[in-house]
Amino acid sequence: MKITIVLVAAVLMTACAILAFALPGGQEAAVSTKDKKGKKMHEKIVKTEEEWQKQLSEEQFYVTRKHGTERAFTGEYYNSHDKGVFTCVCCGQELFSSDAKFDSGTGWPSFWKPISEDAVDVNTDHSYGMARTEVLCSRCDAHLGHVFDDGPAPTHLRYCMNSAALKLVKKN
Ligand SMILES: [Zn+2]
Repeated sequence: MKITIVLVAAVLMTACAILAFALPGGQEAAVSTKDKKGKKMHEKIVKTEEEWQKQLSEEQFYVTRKHGTERAFTGEYYNSHDKGVFTCVCCGQELFSSDAKFDSGTGWPSFWKPISEDAVDVNTDHSYGMARTEVLCSRCDAHLGHVFDDGPAPTHLRYCMNSAALKLVKKN
């Protein structure tokens, strides 16, 4: 019995040592790949599911970390006309200005452009048998919603967001 425990401990320690050597190299490789693409570097926020769960409400966690969608006409901001900046509910990054918000009639807060090109990332989403473009916070990869090409001028884009992914910082 004792020998088994000693053996298991030895194997675990070896595994830890290998990981400690392997990890820094892996991270460097990821960074240099990004540089080659010429993409602007972000200070990424990475947390475990448990950490996000502690910080967020059930609805916020479901939408942002589980790629969920809140029910239409139920969110806090679909009918909001307050002025300010909509920030990421997870990490606080500024995402959309109220100046680019419009009434889409969909029941979700809708914008015709993000506050800056770097604020959001997009990703093709094939869930539910549709090809949609998912919109994520560029800093913490929170799922925010989707972008469609039936929005108003000048961009003709409609960033269809979930209220649960946003936090409005009001400006007077
Ligand atoms: Zn974020």
